[in-house]
Amino acid sequence: VKRAKTGRHVENYQTQAFTLARQQFAMETALRRAIEERQLRLAFQPICDLASGAIVSFEALARWRDSSGVEHQPSDFIPVAEESGLIVPLGRWAMDEAARTLRWWDDACGGHCGMRVAVNLSAIQMQRDDIAPVVEAALIRHDLAGDRFNLELTESAIVSDPDRIAGIMHALKALGTSLAMDDFGTGYSNLAYLQKLPIDILKIDRSFVSGMLADRDKIAIVRAILSLAQALGMRTTAEGVESNELAQTLAALGCTYGQGYLYARPLEAEDALSMIVAARAAATASSAN
Ligand code: C2E
Ligand code: MG
Ligand code: MG
Ligand code: MG
Repeated sequence: VKRAKTGRHVENYQTQAFTLARQQFAMETALRRAIEERQLRLAFQPICDLASGAIVSFEALARWRDSSGVEHQPSDFIPVAEESGLIVPLGRWAMDEAARTLRWWDDACGGHCGMRVAVNLSAIQMQRDDIAPVVEAALIRHDLAGDRFNLELTESAIVSDPDRIAGIMHALKALGTSLAMDDFGTGYSNLAYLQKLPIDILKIDRSFVSGMLADRDKIAIVRAILSLAQALGMRTTAEGVESNELAQTLAALGCTYGQGYLYARPLEAEDALSMIVAARAAATASSAN
C-alpha cells in the first residue's frame, strides 16, 4: 500500500511538472509572437514628490493583451521572458517605446514636458545585452537628453559579476541617465555595493511600505533604509503609497518620492499625458496668482 501511494505521488508530481513545462512553453511561444506582432504596450505610473505632491516622473510598466483579449500580468510573463531570453528583445522594445512616448509628450507640451521616464532593466538584460548602446540609440532616435531616463535595476543584477555591472552602470551614467535600485530590501544582503556603485535613488519595496503605519517592524526597516540612503547621499522612493496618511508620514521621515495607488494606478500613455497637461496648467495658474 505504501509503495503504491508513493508511486502515485511521483506520477502526480511528474504530471504536474509536465503540465507546468507545457504551460511555460505555450506562454513563451505566445510571448515571442506578441513581441514580433507588437501586442505589448507600456503603462505609465506617476512618481510624485512626497512633500509637494508634484509629479516628477512616470514608471513604464509592460502590459500584454493577447489576441484573445486576455491581459497577462508582468508577474507571469516577465519571469518567462527572463528564462527564455525573450527579455532581451522585450527590454529593447520597452526602452524605445518609453523614449518614443516621452518624445510624444514633449511635442504635445510644445517643449520639455517636465517629466522623466523610469524603465526597468532586468538582471538578465544586464548580463546578455549590451545595454548602454541600446539606451543611447533610443535617446538619439527620439532626440532626447539622457537625463530624461531613470533606469531601475534590482539587486539581483549586481550579484553575478559586480565589476562588469559597475562598468555598465558608469556607462549608463555617462549618458546622463540616473539609476535606481528597485525593490530595495528584498534581495542581496551585502550592502557594500551601495557605496561602490553610482546609484542615485533607492526604491523601498512595497512589502515594507504598505501596512507600515500599523507595524513597528516595518516602520523600523523603512527608517533604517531612509537613514542609509541619506548617509550615502541618495534620494528615496517609497513604493505602494496607497493613502494620504502614509504619504504624510513618509514625507515627515524624509523620504523623497512616492509611487502608488494614492496618486494613480499605471495609466495608458494618453491618460498620463492628460495628467501632465493638467498638472502643468495648475502650476501655471498658481504661479500667475
Ligand atoms: P516594479 O518595477 O517594482 O513595479 C511596481 C509594481 O507595483 C507595478 O506592478 C505596479 O503596478 C505595482 N504598484 C504600484 N503602486 C502600487 C500600489 O500602491 N499598490 C500595489 N498593490 N501595487 C502597486 P506591475 O506593473 O504588475 O509590474 C510588476 C513587476 O514586473 C515590476 O515591478 C517589474 O519588476 C516587472 N516589470 C514590469 N514591466 C517591466 C519591463 O518592461 N521590464 C522589466 N525588466 N521588468 C518589468
Ligand atoms: Mg520598477
Ligand atoms: Mg519596484
Ligand atoms: Mg516592487
